[in-house]
Formats: sequence, structure tokens, C-alpha cells
Amino acid sequence: MNNNTSSHFKVNSKNVTYTKDHIVSNYWYKNSKVETSGHGEITVTPTEKFFQFRTQLKVPKVGLMMVGWGGNNGSTLTASIIANRQNISWETKEGTQQPNYYGSLTQASTLSIGKDNNQNEVFIPFNKILPMVHPNDLVLGGWDISSLNLADAMKRAKVLDYDLQRQVSKEMEQFSPLPSVYSPDFIAGNQADRADNLIKGTMQEQMEQIRKDIKNFKQLHDLDTVIVLWTANTERYADIIPGVNETMEELLESIKKGHEEVSPSTLFAVASILEGSPFINGSPQNTFVPGCIQLANAKKVYIGGDDFKSGQTKMKSVLVDFLVNAGIKPLSITSYNHLGNNDGKNLNEQKQFRSKEISKSSVVDDMVAANGILYKKDEHPDHIVVIKYCPSVGDSKRALDEYVSEIFMGGRNTISMFNVCEDSLLASPLILDLVILTELMQRIEYRNSSEEEFRPFNSVLSILSYMLKAPLVPEGTPVINALSKQRSALENIFRACIGLDPINDMMLECQDI
Ligand code: NAD
Repeated sequence: MNNNTSSHFKVNSKNVTYTKDHIVSNYWYKNSKVETSGHGEITVTPTEKFFQFRTQLKVPKVGLMMVGWGGNNGSTLTASIIANRQNISWETKEGTQQPNYYGSLTQASTLSIGKDNNQNEVFIPFNKILPMVHPNDLVLGGWDISSLNLADAMKRAKVLDYDLQRQVSKEMEQFSPLPSVYSPDFIAGNQADRADNLIKGTMQEQMEQIRKDIKNFKQLHDLDTVIVLWTANTERYADIIPGVNETMEELLESIKKGHEEVSPSTLFAVASILEGSPFINGSPQNTFVPGCIQLANAKKVYIGGDDFKSGQTKMKSVLVDFLVNAGIKPLSITSYNHLGNNDGKNLNEQKQFRSKEISKSSVVDDMVAANGILYKKDEHPDHIVVIKYCPSVGDSKRALDEYVSEIFMGGRNTISMFNVCEDSLLASPLILDLVILTELMQRIEYRNSSEEEFRPFNSVLSILSYMLKAPLVPEGTPVINALSKQRSALENIFRACIGLDPINDMMLECQDI
């Protein structure tokens, strides 16, 4: 039964305090420590660690600046927010369509907060667990190497229905992307014809201009915080070179010297971090070179990446988790994609495709490594990824996947999947979640029993993994790709902030009625 309750609730516990400005919760984090003796004997010891979480209640005024604002994702998201804000409905051949935020975890999914007296589970909208900014309240802006205003960019993208485009066009026309940094060496050569909106000057001057853009945007709209997100084209990988980008000092010096291995996305990330604005990378390239991560840590600014997890990879991180946890052994995962949007055109070149191939390929590693019955150490299923550009399918990316698994007594099970991804309509809500959750994380602090001061989480926001294909995690910590685990992490950390234990699904109360 789906009992969506009203938005307001209070947790009735001696471990939770509500002040005018904060929710403070006392929380005992329970885990277990495993030790293996020389003889292979395993000892497991339950552990318990005290944390106090403090969440600021006031939602600030938030700006979102997108790099690649005039692209399919940027223009689709902007038009959709306008439609939602003004409740614009439009006619399609299926009838009248109302705006919504389907596909956004925060806006369109629910969380269970417990059971009522009749053992019915009570659900609340995800965005009511803690105060979060609403997408309609985001102030939008950004950069693009293409000068088209957002109305023309939306038309070029061919994503939204004509009748909706018609109704938001006037407002979209008012927005024009700021000039950006273009390096033909990093995105595909076939993008050159749209690069007519560029910041002039040396690399250092370009970075200072980006910093100025962020400052001006903040001032102009009287914003408390600005989050910068890369939804521009996929770049090739940058080489990690000693003396160039391994430390923050090296990276800042390389920018001063205009070193050719500093990518535009890294330049944007550095500018944002220096402005105290979190930076999220929605594309697969290694924007976060070691020097950039070091800078984020030093400045205590959040970063998150890489690559939106929208269609095929999301399915992979569900299906392989299910198969391996069911004791079924995937032997091969073979993925073909064809797509006809500008992203597909860019990925048509080898170096940019390689970035995507890397981010798509490690997505099942943790699930495979967790099952030592099915897989020997370092054994993996074959995993092939092919992407082809096919202009006529436009933004409706086709993803064809074949999963061949070994089942009982040497049998084979083959699952074949055809996924029409509607790329930008899947990716745009992820942008919202990334921004909304990053902003929320800026208001959550914690401390352990020996600490006086509250502190923020690690600068690398691994909690955003649910939305990302190749999650960036703090050095030395494991990458979790399984979608269900990624969602539990989000849900349980937010529950901890209001003093609730993790969801356990044990249903013992039903044994005891
Ligand atoms: P798009 O090509 O329509 O838009 C990208 C925009 O970035 C273009 O308008 C381009 O002019 C602009 N651009 C390129 N380099 C720039 C720079 N240096 N500075 C500013 N602007 C720049 O692509 P899209 O479909 O909107 O996807 C955007 C990115 O998101 C791609 O890298 C894609 O791989 C990634 N991504 C998308 C999806 C999805 O749509 N489902 C999923 C995962 C990742």
C-alpha cells in the first residue's frame, strides 16, 4: 500500500534535537571487523562507532551553472524547469501532457519511514527526508562554445515536443550561454563548426574569466551558493604527467604556463573550486586529475563524477547485481549502442570513444569480485562496448545488450535487451539530483565522539554514485557500482541525519502480532 504522507514529520527520539537552525542526531554506526588468521580462520567482531550529524535546515538560494548549457541536456533541462515552474501543459498525439520530474530520484521517488498501527508501510517523497532545494527554485546559467541562444539550442536538440518548445521559446530566447574555453585537441574535431563563442586570452586569463563569471552570476542573482556541472562534450583523457598535474601546485603552475595537457574541463573544475563552488563532471573524461582532487581537498570544496548513469549502464548495475547475487555467473556482457545526437557525433572519434569505453567497462567489477564462488580471483566476464553514430535516430539512443550466463549444471541463460534510451530525457533529471544532493551535502556536517568541531564529508562526494557511471571515490576506498547499494547509502545516510537506523527489511514486527 502506498501511503504517501504529507511532507512534515518529526522524529520522536531522545537522540534527535530540533533547533531553530538545525537537526542534530546522535547516531551509533554499527558494522563488523573481519580478521583472518594465518591458518585462514576468520573472526568477525561487531563494531560500533558514535557520530553526531548536524543538518542546517534553511535551504539556500542555489545557482546551477552548466558547462555545455546549449547542448541537448542543458537546453532540455532548462526548458523542462520553465515548463514545471509555470505548469505549462502541451499537446501531443497521445493527448495533453503535464510537466513532471519523472526520472529524478529526489523528485519522483519515495522512501519508507516506518509502519503505522495496521502494519502498513508509510512512504514520503524522497525530497522530504531532509530539506532540499526544489528544481523550480534553481537559478540557471552557464557556458557553451556555441553561441546559440537557448531557444535555438532547444530546437537544434530535437528532444522536446514541438508544442512545448513553442510555449517556452520566448523565455528560452532570453538566455544565451557565456563564452567558453575550446581546445580542439580535447573534444572531437567534428565539433569545430559550432565553436563560435570563445573566451580569448591565455589559459590563466581564461580561468580568471570563468571565476569572474561565477562571481558575477552569484552577485547578479543574489545567490548563496553556485554549483558548476560539466554537461559539455566528452573529452579525451588527459595524460597524468609528473610535474604537470599530479599535485595542486603543479596544476596551478601548468595553468599559468598554458600547458597543453590541461583540459578545458579541468580548467573549469579548478576555477569552480577556487570560487568555492562544487564541481560535478557528467562526462567520462578524467577531469579530476590528481592535482585537481588535491585542490578540492585543500579548499574543502565538493567534487563529484564521472559520467551520468542514465540508460544502459544503469541496467547493467541492476542486472549483474541480480544475476551474481542469485548465484548465476555472467560470462559475457556485449553492448552495442547507436545514437544520432551531437554526443554521438563527438563519440564517433576514437579518443573520445575511448573515454566512454573506460567509464562503461568497470561497472560490474565490484559485483563480480564479491562472489568468490562464481569467479576466481581476477576472473571477469567478457565485456564489450561498441558505440556507433547513426544521425537518423537522433536523441533516441538504442542500446542492445546480450548477457550470457552460466547456470545450473553447465547450462546457459541468455538475456537480450533492447533499450531505447531517450538520452537527454534520462540524463536531465540526473543533473537535478546531482545538484540537489550536492547542495544538501553542503549543509550536513558530522563529528565523532573525540571531535569538538563538526566537519564536512570528504571532498570527493561518493554519495552521488547512484547517478554516475564511473563513481569517483576518495583515494583508497572501494567503488560501489551496484545500484541498490548506492541507493541504500543515500537513504541510510539521510536517515542517520534524522536519527533513524538503516532500513533493514527484516519485517520482524510481522512475526510478533
Ligand atoms: P551535446 O553535444 O548535445 O551538448 C554538449 C554541449 O557542450 C554542446 O552544446 C557543445 O557546444 C558544448 N561544449 C563542448 N565543449 C565545450 C566547452 N569546452 N565549453 C562549453 N561548452 C562546450 O551533448 P549532450 O547529449 O547534452 O551530453 C552532454 C554530455 O553528457 C556528453 O559528454 C555525454 O557523453 C554526457 N552524458 C550524457 C548522457 C545522456 O545524455 N544520457 C549520459 C551520460 C553522459
